[in-house]
Amino acid sequence: MPLLKADNLSKIYGSKRTASHQALSHFHLNVEPGEFIGIMGPSGSGKTTLLNLLSTIDKPTSGKVIINGTSITSLSKNKLAAFRLREMGFVFQDFNLLPTLTVKENILLPLTLEKCKISEMKKRLEHVAKILSLDSFLHKRIHEISGGQMQRAAIARAVIHEPAVIFADEPTGNLDSASSLQVMQTLQMLHEKKHTILMVTHDPFAASFCRRIIFIKDGKFFNEIMRGSNRQSFFQDILNVQSLLGGNTDDFHTIRFQ
Ligand code: ADP
Ligand code: MG
Repeated sequence: MPLLKADNLSKIYGSKRTASHQALSHFHLNVEPGEFIGIMGPSGSGKTTLLNLLSTIDKPTSGKVIINGTSITSLSKNKLAAFRLREMGFVFQDFNLLPTLTVKENILLPLTLEKCKISEMKKRLEHVAKILSLDSFLHKRIHEISGGQMQRAAIARAVIHEPAVIFADEPTGNLDSASSLQVMQTLQMLHEKKHTILMVTHDPFAASFCRRIIFIKDGKFFNEIMRGSNRQSFFQDILNVQSLLGGNTDDFHTIRFQ
């Protein structure tokens, strides 16, 4: 049984009063435990919409999402909140850390919300700080650390409660290339430790760390590629699909005209 299943997902934004827009159409996906999946496509193709539906941030217009055997699209609001807190970890482009707290307090937040025992918190914090090499800035405040350190802290917060799935939306979007590399190496290491990761990105370098990439275009499945042993050749494969998609050009336009 897949860990996560998206069954015939569609999303239409808008209401009777505003023009409606079909952002996702009849989308199917099976994610096996331990997969590291990238979701790519031109800007506006529906990547964030898809990730938000899979991660329960938003509800589909039709279709189902099943995680660990639970149909999350039919859970009540309270059950959904509890499920999200327990089974999901989130990493965002702008880190979403709380600026008034220290790195350590930010990382512990999911456990604080779950009313975890202090001794258990201490044990888990020591473990993530060690595997993600955070010890040197654990006691600093958010404004005292670099963007790359912020994203590693956010990743630590996303994994500290051992969620079933980690969702990342453009995790390297605000980072320079050296910090992007560190962040992708961190995600790769979590993949090697059997975490399941779904990452949206428009950056072929970041995507080359994934094991499977799903391309979407105009809200529909377009193509899927799997990585062999070589990351460099996977990077080239990604560029090839992007040129078929016309994704590169779109992204350049966004940068130039926004
Ligand atoms: P991507 O992440 O691939 O850039 P999105 O999933 O954000 O794309 O958006 C897909 C399409 O849906 C775009 O045309 C976007 O303008 C539209 N869209 C996204 N969010 C909303 C919303 N809340 N209301 C209306 N339209 C939206
Ligand atoms: Mg997006």
